[in-house]
Amino acid sequence: MPSASLRLAVIGAGAAGLAAARELRREGHAPVVFERAAAVGGTWLYAPPATPSDPLGAAGTHSSLYASLRTNLPRETMGFLDFPFAAEAPGSADPRRFPGHEEVLRYLEAFARRFDLLRLVRFETEVLRVRREDRGRWAVTSRELGDKGSGEEEVYDAVVVCNGHYTEPRIAVIPGVDAWPGKQMHSHNYRVPEPFLDQVCVFPLSDLCSRQVVIIIGASASAFDISRDVASTAKEVHIADRSAPVRTCEKQPGYSNLWLHSMIDHAEEDGSVVFQDGSSIKADVIMHCTGYLYDFPFLGDDSTITVDDNRIDPLYKHVFPPEVAPQLSFIGLPWKVIPFPLFELQSKWVARVLSGRIVLPSKEEMMEDVKAFYSKLEARGWPKRYTHNFSNYQFEYDDWLAEQCSYPPIEEWRKQMYTFNGINKAVRPESYRDEWDDDHLVAEANEDFKKYL
Ligand code: FAD
Repeated sequence: MPSASLRLAVIGAGAAGLAAARELRREGHAPVVFERAAAVGGTWLYAPPATPSDPLGAAGTHSSLYASLRTNLPRETMGFLDFPFAAEAPGSADPRRFPGHEEVLRYLEAFARRFDLLRLVRFETEVLRVRREDRGRWAVTSRELGDKGSGEEEVYDAVVVCNGHYTEPRIAVIPGVDAWPGKQMHSHNYRVPEPFLDQVCVFPLSDLCSRQVVIIIGASASAFDISRDVASTAKEVHIADRSAPVRTCEKQPGYSNLWLHSMIDHAEEDGSVVFQDGSSIKADVIMHCTGYLYDFPFLGDDSTITVDDNRIDPLYKHVFPPEVAPQLSFIGLPWKVIPFPLFELQSKWVARVLSGRIVLPSKEEMMEDVKAFYSKLEARGWPKRYTHNFSNYQFEYDDWLAEQCSYPPIEEWRKQMYTFNGINKAVRPESYRDEWDDDHLVAEANEDFKKYL
């Protein structure tokens, strides 16, 4: 039984905030979830193009989803550990193994209803400030949408930050771009490919149309998918990938208008964009698919963390700042992971630490652990911005959390399916969502899900 029931502020009602709310309440705490939007789902709450006159603009929106997005993980792996994201689960309307984004939102809504979480959420309420009070507590200032005042301050025993990290664009530096006359945007603002067809076009896709030339910077899943989406309407799409060899200039198989290049060297006043191999093209749009920055605008120096080159420092096991642990914690920072199960395990750990069932090491020991982790990253030659990149060791981390909480390790089928998906994606980059070779693992997962459905 928990040793203390605490009044807690959870910031955000995306997948991480919902997982946190459930685990905190299960542990006997009283969470209040602050959510800026009018509904749960966070990233999965698709925000349509802002206005017909500015279809590329989506300033001020939280979600970075585009209309055609399908998941890049098989649904069996994606779900919470005891609430499967199964095709036959109640409310499912898109049974595909890699469903469209609407299906993920339906799943998260079903999760919130099933565990009666909606009544814990204060919708359309933004957290403006989190300030440290006496005895380790935190004053949280929040303001309802439409209220022009300075907000209301309340004191909580602890704060759990679940504000997501796919909203604040990271932009590539391009020498000369200030004088370049084209339009720049970030994948955060990308929704649909139609704007790359000239707006006055009367005969869509005919040669009479003026179609745009688009450069996409990046090599991530978003750059891959968006380049294909945009190629359906644009005249030409050129991907600039900084990891490609300098001489790269390759037409992509299966496309007449899609090329892969090395990185951009510079942009010029006449509209030209010059690649590292010296070749150049006149482009209308540069789209940065260059990732996102961690951002906690409501935290001050008393949070004891700093964010530098996407390293949040210092954090014990990517969750607790040692100096103010456990009264301040972060759920959902790691990337290159299966997010929902990781959120769930982090949440269980935080809930138990807050109730005193799990005891953290001393501040000094936690700081030593952080330092040892940084040394490991350095030895591996990883840049600072990869501090929370969990390639290769997410399951080790998940299983460590599970062990702390006396919970079983991640299922073998889930681990194997994640690996299979990575291989399948490399082998069939254009069709991995519709063709695969791991039906035996799907059968094993579905058998496992019977426990919960
Ligand atoms: P979010 O979903 O971003 O939620 C954060 C919430 O906090 C939001 O609702 C926001 O409104 C709220 N908030 C922020 N600041 C405040 C504030 N100050 N006050 C009040 N509320 C606030 N994951 C997968 O598992 N499979 C996929 O296929 C997949 N594809 C993806 C594709 C794209 C393009 C992106 C961007 C992400 C994808 N992800 C995928 C990862 C996805 O982000 C996670 O699955 C998950 O949704 C992140 O949840 P979160 O709760 O951490 O953050």
